[in-house]
Amino acid sequence: MASAVEPSAASMTPYTTHRIPYPSTLVKGRFIWPYAGAFIVYHSLALLVVIPWLFSWAGLVLFLTGFYVFGTLGINLCYHRLLTHYGFKCPKWLEHTLAILGVCCLQDTPARWVAVHRRHHQHSDEQEDPHSPLASFFWGHMAWLYHVNTEMERRELYERYSKDLMADRFYKNLERRLVWVWINLAQWMVYYTVGFFAGWAMTGSPMAGVQLGLSVWLWGVILRTVGVWHITWSINSVTHMWGYRNYETDENSKNNILIGILSNGEGWHNNHHAQPRCASHGHKWWELDVTWISIWLLKKVGLAWDVVEINRKMAAKQSVKEY
Ligand SMILES: [Zn+2]
Ligand SMILES: [Zn+2]
Repeated sequence: MASAVEPSAASMTPYTTHRIPYPSTLVKGRFIWPYAGAFIVYHSLALLVVIPWLFSWAGLVLFLTGFYVFGTLGINLCYHRLLTHYGFKCPKWLEHTLAILGVCCLQDTPARWVAVHRRHHQHSDEQEDPHSPLASFFWGHMAWLYHVNTEMERRELYERYSKDLMADRFYKNLERRLVWVWINLAQWMVYYTVGFFAGWAMTGSPMAGVQLGLSVWLWGVILRTVGVWHITWSINSVTHMWGYRNYETDENSKNNILIGILSNGEGWHNNHHAQPRCASHGHKWWELDVTWISIWLLKKVGLAWDVVEINRKMAAKQSVKEY
């Protein structure tokens, strides 16, 4: 049984030395400036956390809880396991609410994210993979996002990979007039405004309001967005390079303990490539998967159904052989 196979020296495959070329449709030297600009702005703003005046405990709490609310529920659970892979079903109102949490991570629209990720599964670690780190680590981590790659033009990509989402008016509307970007900017306003009035009300000083408003914006939105970016990007880069394998899949996916824990379950990436539709990415008892626990809880309260479980038969067939 696959679950009986513990990682061992035999399955601890090191980073493969084989390299692949960049996508043939990459236009070298041409950048998608709005993306590159957003990365520069967010990373620069995130550096402001070193200023003590911009720290607040409320900001820190919002930063930490935001990883779960936006990163785990919005990206892992909704964008990835629900929308991309149909790992379970839930009421439409809940699906759409979770999708908005995903939008607040500034990782593009659901239709775009899903299309890119489905292409990744179709061509994992081949030249056509949108973000294989076998071309180069930095490419797989983030450079692929701001380089022009003609294969990734929206219309063609959506036509091939996310027709199902585009048939839903909710997702179609998110594509219009950069609605998803405005939602992110609205998020800035909400955090700052609530923080401002809370700080003012608690102290009677408008300046204290400005301080609390700025700190919850900086920690709760900017730093959290950058943190969630790097965690998501690490799934594309780190877990296609370093870790152990439970399954003999035909690409370089790995289970990485550090990323598995940090990402609340997405880092058990070799398990995921072995059974992409499975809603659970932790296949061994100790592979903690907080995203799966969340889906399980939704099922318990009747808000999730048709949950795709681990196929143990298939797992046994694909499991790494130990000699
Ligand atoms: Zn992958
Ligand atoms: Zn996937």
